[in-house]
Amino acid sequence: MLIVMKADATELEVADVVRAVTEMGLRAHPMPGAQRTAIGITGNQGAVDPSRFENMPGVAEAIRVTKPYKLISLDLRPEKTVVRVGDATIGGDELAIIAGPCAVESRAQAFAIAEAVRRSGARFYRGGAFKPRTSPYAFQGLGEEGLKILAEVRETYGLKIITEAMDEHGMDLVERYADIIQLGARNMQNFSLLRRAGRSHLPVLLKRGMAAMIDEWMLAAEYIMAEGNYNVILCERGVRTFAQHTRNTLDLAAIPAVRRISHLPVIVDPSHGTGKNFMVTPLARAGVAVGADGLIIEVHDQPDRALSDGAQALTLEQYEQLVYEVRAIHEVVAPAPVS
Ligand code: PEP
Ligand code: MN
Repeated sequence: MLIVMKADATELEVADVVRAVTEMGLRAHPMPGAQRTAIGITGNQGAVDPSRFENMPGVAEAIRVTKPYKLISLDLRPEKTVVRVGDATIGGDELAIIAGPCAVESRAQAFAIAEAVRRSGARFYRGGAFKPRTSPYAFQGLGEEGLKILAEVRETYGLKIITEAMDEHGMDLVERYADIIQLGARNMQNFSLLRRAGRSHLPVLLKRGMAAMIDEWMLAAEYIMAEGNYNVILCERGVRTFAQHTRNTLDLAAIPAVRRISHLPVIVDPSHGTGKNFMVTPLARAGVAVGADGLIIEVHDQPDRALSDGAQALTLEQYEQLVYEVRAIHEVVAPAPVS
């Protein structure tokens, strides 16, 4: 059920509807929008009777939702969500650029890369402290020491920090140091972790699972939102196919597909999406051209020495060139509104 309030509904009227929903043992999710406020209802097993709300003051209509998701959908919120992290945004007019190493390896490495990321004008710095590696013998990340380095990067360069939490304990730690929590492809359907992220005060970057259909991905985001965290950023990072020329097949059609369904910002990861250095810039360009709200790019000061994902890491020079190119494309694809 979705309750759409009239454009001139007062805050008190919205609060009355929220109370009525709560009294039924359900959860109300009010989403103020530019035109009107809509209130999503979750927690019901069967259909909710719309007549309970239809005649309440300020209510325009009560709509039964037939799709499997509610809170992520454009029905609830017709305009795009802009995720704000301090003065930086994802989903707004500006192209969001998140860049940094796959893993934080040392203070010197993290700082050398952060310097270039800052210089490029990007607002967000990525770097894993907890790494989900296919092999148990591969570098697993520096753990909390890595998070401390990331916090220093924020202090020094003013970049917003995004880093992955692999489990609930890791999330407690990540919350202490980061600005955005990354949930990795391998955890897209870790439902207890999704719920935990939904109770976080930090925005969540939700990567698409490597075998996930769009609906499954949307429902994973719904898990987070249903717990009350509405700051979710979706990230297309490629899926498994029979193609062998890339690490994953970057599904750029997912961007317009998601746009049709959801108000959430969606970004592209051409690094994991291709796994190959020489493909990252072309696919980053394409990601921006199909309308992504941003990019997440792996960069390294010495890619041949990287402890993880070196083959897809851009050099600092390549990264600088990429930013220049994608900004030019973004200006054409999403021109600033005429004021
Ligand atoms: C990463 O961003 O370094 C990562 C492990 O990504 P994914 O979960 O998409 O594989
Ligand atoms: Mn990586």
